[in-house]
Amino acid sequence: LPAPIETDALVIGAGPVGLFQAFQLGLLEIPCHIVDALPAAGGQCVRLYGDKPIYDIPGIPATSGQGLADALLRQLEPLKPVFHFGQQVQTLERQADQRLLLRTDGGTAFLAKTVFIAAGVGAFVPKRIALEGIQRFEGSTLFYHPDSLDRFDGQAVVVNGGDDAGLATALALIGRARQVTLLHRRDGFQADDALVRRFREQVAAGALGFAVGQPIAFDGRTLEINTPDAQTRSLPLDALIACLGISPRLGPIADWGLELVRKQVPVDTERFQTREPGVFAVGDVNTYPGKKKLIVCGFHEATLAAWAATEIVFPGKAVPLQYTTTSTRLHQLLGVG
Ligand code: FAD
Repeated sequence: LPAPIETDALVIGAGPVGLFQAFQLGLLEIPCHIVDALPAAGGQCVRLYGDKPIYDIPGIPATSGQGLADALLRQLEPLKPVFHFGQQVQTLERQADQRLLLRTDGGTAFLAKTVFIAAGVGAFVPKRIALEGIQRFEGSTLFYHPDSLDRFDGQAVVVNGGDDAGLATALALIGRARQVTLLHRRDGFQADDALVRRFREQVAAGALGFAVGQPIAFDGRTLEINTPDAQTRSLPLDALIACLGISPRLGPIADWGLELVRKQVPVDTERFQTREPGVFAVGDVNTYPGKKKLIVCGFHEATLAAWAATEIVFPGKAVPLQYTTTSTRLHQLLGVG
């Protein structure tokens, strides 16, 4: 195993609260790493309402989910946190020296003095096909919501799904893949009308195959499906792409001994610390009397949690409150003035 990355702080989740957490840590001169299961920052704001307007961020009369994420990233940029995208943090264990050892499913390990769980409603992960043992084909002939379609050029591809992502993926493969078949459990789609129209045209023109049914077996090369008239049909393929939606899973965080209450991590309201010293929880993932799942509340929680962390990272040192308006040290850190 590679040696763990040693850091003063590890932030789990690059949603709006995780990003602002990293900013507040940076102002207090606590360097940090940030891990997110998604390929990019923004959490729910980008994943669930990227182009929708948002009106209750202090001082910003109107922006969008994506606009807010971009602004938080710009604000954070001079403080240079290290991002690790596409990795879900799986384990958290206290070491003999009190530091916390964390491992991701991407094989990265961190040894951190403080941990900030900003995991929101959980890691956004693709829904898997519910077939026993099918995970062994992931990455070889089975792919979930792939970022790029390059590797499927010239292949026989079956795309499983019936929403925008499924239809768009099947359409995008026309002319690149040797053969494309869309598989959906019924002959009806929860997708944009224009996309459905284009899909039907391509099927009528013979450019796309369409199979209705449910997967019942997969050996890596042939997908067997059950059709609505109770027949079994075999679909030979080079690659199976499943676009069945991306949903949040709190997943491994439930196993970290934090005594969750209704899938939330209890914290105090002075430090936003969990029952584990040095492990803080901020944003949608935490709970305390009066909790409101709003971004502005998460920003406050992250600010106080960062201050609480100074007691662990700089023991015995009184850290003075400084204003970004007037502090030359903060100007230096932010690269302004
Ligand atoms: P999230 O945004 O959920 O981000 C958490 C991140 O952590 C995710 O990116 C996830 O992938 C990652 N993660 C989780 N577990 C792991 C793990 N183990 N390893 C690695 N990464 C992990 N709030 C407002 O204040 N105003 C609004 O107008 C508003 N509108 C909304 C509209 C909609 C449709 C929705 C769904 C929510 C809205 N909210 C609004 C709520 C707001 O989006 C949330 O309060 C906010 O996103 C919480 O931020 P967060 O950083 O705590 O969590």
